[in-house]
Amino acid sequence: MGSQFEIALSVIIVSIVMFIASLLFKDKEGDKPARIAFRSFYFFTVIFFVVMSANIQSSTLLLDFFSDVFFALSGLCLTIGILWRCQSKIPISLVCSFAVIYVITDKFVIESSVQVAYLYNVILSLVCVYALLNRTQGSNVGDKGMALVIALNTLLLIANLASFTGIINHEFSTQFMVTLFIFAPAYLAGLTIFLFSSYMLDAHKALEIEATTDPLTELYNRRFFLSESKRMLKAAERHREPLCVMMCDIDYFKQVNDNYGHKVGDKVLKAFAHVLSDYLRGGDILARYGGEEFVAILTQTDKVKALTVVERMREQVEKLSFETNKGTINLTASFGICEVQDYHDIEMSINHADNAMYDAKSAGRNVVKHYESVLA
Ligand code: GH3
Ligand code: MG
Ligand code: MG
Repeated sequence: MGSQFEIALSVIIVSIVMFIASLLFKDKEGDKPARIAFRSFYFFTVIFFVVMSANIQSSTLLLDFFSDVFFALSGLCLTIGILWRCQSKIPISLVCSFAVIYVITDKFVIESSVQVAYLYNVILSLVCVYALLNRTQGSNVGDKGMALVIALNTLLLIANLASFTGIINHEFSTQFMVTLFIFAPAYLAGLTIFLFSSYMLDAHKALEIEATTDPLTELYNRRFFLSESKRMLKAAERHREPLCVMMCDIDYFKQVNDNYGHKVGDKVLKAFAHVLSDYLRGGDILARYGGEEFVAILTQTDKVKALTVVERMREQVEKLSFETNKGTINLTASFGICEVQDYHDIEMSINHADNAMYDAKSAGRNVVKHYESVLA
């Protein structure tokens, strides 16, 4: 293959560019540093093609050995990066063993090294595709794209292997090798584009979550609640369905903080939010409206049904108890409900539910009040 050197040069340039691009990868705090593994992958790919080009020019045993080592390292780093990023259960030690077995088999056991190299690459590629499609945090489009690029490359490798075993006409084998080589820059670029997309999509998702949720309770925040509730009111009006707003506030919560500390107060808030969410259905939304004040929209629910559901919520809150070294904390909360009358004014319904909730406070707390009863 006369053009091998030129092709190797183009892979080196592409790998260097991709290495520079990989400097922009940023892993989430607390996650394994997959970016380091990806950078190492590009780095070892560059070194591998440099050593291999030198080996093509004047072949020596040492250059041959080192080209195998760097080939093994580049595949290993890509796989480790993917396993870390996908939080895969496949142990890193297993893929490291593959790399060691590859180098030993290739150098000291088998003379013909190309097939072993392909086999090694196929095994690692299958591990990568499996991890990418089963990402613990859910595979995004970038992960699926990467899996596709790796799978396509694997098909080429398998075709190569088959040509050696005689399943495919051996005449094709040189052709396949050329194809693999020519595809290397495209493979690297495709891989990086999808890897980059995967990182970007993760960052976008994280920003979206940050903008719409309350970090302590993990419920929606007030801003998201207001925009989402307007959409829900429109849908309810279209389908002529009843809808209720529920507001609630923990009773004497300041005492919990004063007596047991802010940290315990936070734990209690989380548990309280959890109880509320247990009583809501899929289409409903619940948000933290302020400090220890929560708001919900109960879809397809009229005031009679809402009273039943919220009364059950109140009873469940009453049953909550927290053991601390300063004693047991028991909790109650006051609830206000309002059936939406004006589908174009969510603020008005929220105010009415709030009034009902303050009526519940005035009535001695730990009760559910309906807005109409406030008017009566
Ligand atoms: P009431 O029955 O009238 O509602 O009495 P209260 O003590 O619950 O009412 P108040 O509004 O006076 O107190 C609310 C307390 O909630 C005060 C504040 O310290 C606490 N709080 C607000 N946000 C948080 C939070 O994120 N974490 C913790 N631990 N406490 C919070
Ligand atoms: Mg309170
Ligand atoms: Mg309050």
